Amino acid sequence: MLLVLLYTHMLNQLEDEVRTCTKCPLHLSRTIAVPGEGDSNAKLMFVGEAPGYHEDLEGRPFVGAAGKLLTKMIEQTLGMKRENVYITNIVKCRPPDNRDPAPLEIETCTPYLVRQLSIVKPQIVSSLGRHSTIYFLSKAGIVARGILSVRGKVYEFQSGSRTFSLIPTIHPAAALYDPKNMKILEHDFIILKEML
Ligand code: URA
Ligand code: SF4
Repeated sequence: MLLVLLYTHMLNQLEDEVRTCTKCPLHLSRTIAVPGEGDSNAKLMFVGEAPGYHEDLEGRPFVGAAGKLLTKMIEQTLGMKRENVYITNIVKCRPPDNRDPAPLEIETCTPYLVRQLSIVKPQIVSSLGRHSTIYFLSKAGIVARGILSVRGKVYEFQSGSRTFSLIPTIHPAAALYDPKNMKILEHDFIILKEML
């Protein structure tokens, strides 16, 4: 119990640090930074790409259309509550016009993600989309040819002194405009459920 309080406090502090961060140029164009949210003791952590339009205005991850789909799949397919997982992104501030995060921005921002991992210590990390998948697989020494060749499989990567299981899947935004992708996302969430 005491330890959970300590980890919650550490996570809150980190989230406050992100909200005032000016380490990379994305701070110049953001409205509100989006550190991430959820249970400091979560078994499952989702890592997306970057805040979009709605997330930037609210300061919360995955609250737009893709977020509504993610929330629905957490509840219906995994049978969990959104507040019992941890949800964050590879970069915490919205890139202008939703462009891809630049390599230097990812490099500057991911120390926050490394700290989030070391505090929450999830049993499984699920990377949503290409950017976070490439980031985690590169830690495992794997060069992914494309998200479709690695999604739905289980990998391991090291962060700090720990080993984490990784299940990459496609970004929920991709599932919104292509029913084939929706099937893929549903399939991968069933694998996630079996792993938990
Ligand atoms: N897309 C992401 O990758 N992250 C969000 O938080 C919202 C949309
Ligand atoms: Fe800081 Fe990350 Fe935002 Fe850049 S994207 S300003 S490193 S929180």
